[in-house]
Amino acid sequence: MENFELMIIGGGPGGYLCAELASAAGLSTVLIERRALGGTCLNEGCVPTKAILNSAKLYRHALDSAPFGVTVQGAELNHEQVIAHKDDVVRTLVSGVAGTLKKNKVTVLNGEAAILGRDEDGFAVQVNGERVTGRRLVIATGSETTVPPIPGLREGLESGFVITNREALANRQLPKTMVVMGGGVIGLEMVAYYASVGVQVTVVEMLPKIAGPMDDEISGALLKEYTGRGVAFKLSSRVTEIQQGRIVCEKDGVPETIECDQVLLSLGRRPVTAGFGLETIGVEADRAGIRTDERLRTNVPGVYAIGDCNGVSMLAHTAYREAEALVNNLLGRPDRVNYHSIASVIYTDPEVAAVGETKKSAEEKGMAVREIRLPLVYSGRYVAENIKGKGFIKLVVDTDRNRLAGVHMIGSYASEIIAAAAMMVDQELPPERLKKFVFPHPTVGEVLHNALNEI
Ligand code: FAD
Repeated sequence: MENFELMIIGGGPGGYLCAELASAAGLSTVLIERRALGGTCLNEGCVPTKAILNSAKLYRHALDSAPFGVTVQGAELNHEQVIAHKDDVVRTLVSGVAGTLKKNKVTVLNGEAAILGRDEDGFAVQVNGERVTGRRLVIATGSETTVPPIPGLREGLESGFVITNREALANRQLPKTMVVMGGGVIGLEMVAYYASVGVQVTVVEMLPKIAGPMDDEISGALLKEYTGRGVAFKLSSRVTEIQQGRIVCEKDGVPETIECDQVLLSLGRRPVTAGFGLETIGVEADRAGIRTDERLRTNVPGVYAIGDCNGVSMLAHTAYREAEALVNNLLGRPDRVNYHSIASVIYTDPEVAAVGETKKSAEEKGMAVREIRLPLVYSGRYVAENIKGKGFIKLVVDTDRNRLAGVHMIGSYASEIIAAAAMMVDQELPPERLKKFVFPHPTVGEVLHNALNEI
């Protein structure tokens, strides 16, 4: 096989976009993927979760639409059809990625890559018994579910009583009761589906709040919303043991046993850095991921790491941006990623979205900030589409620099509106300039304009 200019391990968003851009720019490129193109994101992450969440939303709205003058008789959710639709979506998008790679003349190898070492041709990797070489090497191996050493957890995973996002998205039958271990983004999106379709869900979360680093008031509002829909939350609680049919959790030293049909493990994800020979070429990595600098270079010249495996910001859109920045740097066009303006979203219903600092994180960094909070009922469209909607937006303003430091939101379309907010945080324009942006009327996004006018 030819000696490629660029060799990429991992065909998720980071790897496949890097391959597409590099090859389109004229670098001979090989992409190695052991499972399916599209990686976690397309096959068992971002996209399939949104497919099933859309079905849950349609179902819930069908049940709750009477105040809007629409009565749906006999609304039913066919879970098997939801999963079949999700599978269709995944198939379409994965074949789209394969088509784009082909169009861009990327050589795609299906198989597990193991790094053999370095020689005069560059880096050597073994795939399906063949030796492949590349002058430069990009690691884009992504992340995997964290499996902590909880007694009974491994056995639970083996028996199928404990599942991860992978099985949760393929579950052909709904359990009656489910315990979700971890109230972070992935856990909450699964709660949003399973609770909406009638599963009795209990969330066990070690922290005193859900939704990790999200603004405290927003995570409180989300907690209230889902508690109101019948989800039980055990906060400041730790799972200490798993037995077939039950879990034991502990709060302030007091144990509690919860019986359930299924347990979903969502205690976070860890970068994939072991098992494929990184050590043979001396690339430094630890539990937090492969160490990279601001140009995505590892400690070994000619080796780069992008996406979840570097552990910087484990989001698909970060992986995309890192792929772009890396290819630009390889082509001699200096580029770096502005991590501070990368938005994050929780696709619950209502949606939660955030970019930049919260008041708390800003104050911890010693910044002088002011918070502006507006309810979404400032938007005519929000009032038209929500009965007694409780959504709100918060701006965090850096008062020393007179710049927008963060935007946080809970409510409809938050996932779409946050892109405009992220651009505002990224561009670091003065509020006087930001206030001149015109939002279409009537949109929920107009509240961002209203809030800016309060600065
Ligand atoms: P991955 O997508 O993980 O791809 C890495 C690929 O490398 C995998 O396909 C793997 O098979 C392959 N690989 C690993 N080792 C080898 C080897 N030795 N040889 C060959 N191939 C190898 N992010 C968002 O931004 N928005 C969301 O809404 C969102 N929702 C999510 C929901 C869930 C349930 C989960 C689990 C994640 C979600 N994420 C979301 C995170 C997102 O999926 C990741 O950030 C993204 O996939 C990272 O892309 P990546 O290219 O770094 O890695």
